Amino acid sequence: MQSPIYKRILYKISGEALMGDQPSGIDPKFVARVVDDVIEAKQLGCSIALAVGGGNIFRGVQLAASGADRVTGDHMGMLAIVMNALALRMAFDTRGVGATVLSGLAVPQVCETFTQRGMIEARERGDVLIFAGGTGSPFFTSDSGAALRAAEFGADAILKGTQVDGIYTSDPKKNINAERLNTLTHDQLIEQKLAVMDTSAAVIARDNGIDVVVFSIHEPGSLSRVLTGQGTYSTVSAKQA
Ligand code: UDP
Repeated sequence: MQSPIYKRILYKISGEALMGDQPSGIDPKFVARVVDDVIEAKQLGCSIALAVGGGNIFRGVQLAASGADRVTGDHMGMLAIVMNALALRMAFDTRGVGATVLSGLAVPQVCETFTQRGMIEARERGDVLIFAGGTGSPFFTSDSGAALRAAEFGADAILKGTQVDGIYTSDPKKNINAERLNTLTHDQLIEQKLAVMDTSAAVIARDNGIDVVVFSIHEPGSLSRVLTGQGTYSTVSAKQA
């Protein structure tokens, strides 16, 4: 069996990806596929945490655009993230793979609240960790939450499963001249305002020496392929290859 490029990773999944082919909500078939990919990657010997978004259910900023209170909207967005995390945990449970949801937003009747100690205990049990609730604070995104938890988890890399197979100079679905970038630095990502993650997330990754690897979430088995250096992906790291 090939050894993975990274030993400890945080896999960031956008809420939107969990919709599968549906217009909104959670597609159980897609959740099952993502979970199977994670189990396959775990068999490579990786310690894996997931961080999920909530955009398939609710985004606070959209509510705020219609004049409503942003903070309440963001609380609703973070609860949406918790819902996605519970769907992922259920899929791990049905496969007999231990998974623990740790939420930045306290919802004690449904999952553990994130603490460093709770995270270490779950990691030592060999569980897949599912970070939910983003940072637990409004005015942030799930990417920033993912970067923060990646630093606390001691991750070598954030693997970001997206709609496209890497980082492009502009949206390849809209611009046929968009150029694919194989490797770049965090500073290039920030300076060129490439739409990969928000600046605060990129800064947390940069300042903590965490690589960011972007690949398509739509190819079954892509997580393991990327972790063994196969397939198509873009890498953001401190030094350009
Ligand atoms: N959110 C928040 N603080 C956080 C993370 C998320 O307030 O630390 C809220 C915010 O309203 C956001 C929503 O949760 O719009 C869903 O997260 P996001 O849009 O980042 O999800 P994704 O785009 O990854 O599906």
